[in-house]
Amino acid sequence: MQIQQIETFIVQQKLETPFYFSQWDYDTRTVCLVKVTLDDGTYGWGEGYGPAIVVQASIEFLKPFVIGSNPLHVETIWQTMHRRSLDFARRGVLVASLSAIDIALWDLRGKLLNQPVSVLLGGQRRDRVRVYATGLYFSEGDNLTERLADEAKLYAEQGFTAIKMKVGLGVKKDLAHIRAVREAIGDDIQLMIDSNHAFSRSEAYELAREAEAFNISFFEEPLSPEDYEGYHELRQRTTIPIAGGECEYLCDGFRHLLVDACVDIVQPDICAAGGLTEVKRIATLARTFHAELIPHCWGTGIAFAAGLHLVSTLDALPGRLYTPEPLLEMDRSENLLRDKLTQPVFSVNDGFVDVPTEAGLGVDVDLDYLEEVRI
Ligand code: CA
Repeated sequence: MQIQQIETFIVQQKLETPFYFSQWDYDTRTVCLVKVTLDDGTYGWGEGYGPAIVVQASIEFLKPFVIGSNPLHVETIWQTMHRRSLDFARRGVLVASLSAIDIALWDLRGKLLNQPVSVLLGGQRRDRVRVYATGLYFSEGDNLTERLADEAKLYAEQGFTAIKMKVGLGVKKDLAHIRAVREAIGDDIQLMIDSNHAFSRSEAYELAREAEAFNISFFEEPLSPEDYEGYHELRQRTTIPIAGGECEYLCDGFRHLLVDACVDIVQPDICAAGGLTEVKRIATLARTFHAELIPHCWGTGIAFAAGLHLVSTLDALPGRLYTPEPLLEMDRSENLLRDKLTQPVFSVNDGFVDVPTEAGLGVDVDLDYLEEVRI
């Protein structure tokens, strides 16, 4: 039994309604998927987070070191890929490509052993995962504030008990949006804000200070991911928990965030930070610092399923009879690569999504649609 083939697929969707956030605008979604196939035809799917064309090229670089390996030796293969990439890219897209292959290997191993990935990760603590809605992006047109409030209300009606909104247009505008959204959803739903590292230290502090009145559950990426001292300082100055880490890679990157006491919540992306193998280690690392882990998640159903399996295995901190449920990000913005390319389409009930019980990740790719959207 050995790995025979590794194929990459770049898929693209033109958005019907372009949107923007603090850094740039989106009118297309592009993702690189990877399919790893054994000599007996068994296959697994993975996905990398980052510029798809670079993810694809990096997978091509890693491929020869993986082909011919025994697919059950997931950590051995991880270590080989890591050693081969370390000298050139201690962080970044090469790690995302390693992550994509690693996720496909977990999917494969689950299929070979006829077990869901959550069991291979050590066993479920829960069979459904609490998710928060990510949306509330900016779009052109009138009445943005009202439209954001309406969108937030829609998520509340869909059963979400936690919602994350974008900030980063400027403190005054952001506060008006936060106020409108909080009023629209009432006091019982958790509200989080994400600036995608839009702010200077003084702006981030000003927004945090003013936003405290609106009961914000966390402030994500308030500052540049390079500004570790700024994170540490902001965290001392506000009562809002600080979250970050979607631009961080590997245990060593997260160690930096944690040792410097930069964040309350670490947010590794499983498709970027080192795959399921490494994010499981990051979860252990975070626990030793008593920090929460809420994975960043953006992409197709493959990325989301990987998140469901991982979060289903996280221990609540510090642990008690009735514990708060760990969260997973669930992107709700327009995304046919999530809704049509992969099955099943995950549905939300009372703010929770069931963890797949099929062998492997429990998601498959619609090959007809794949050919339609492949570039
Ligand atoms: Ca984010």
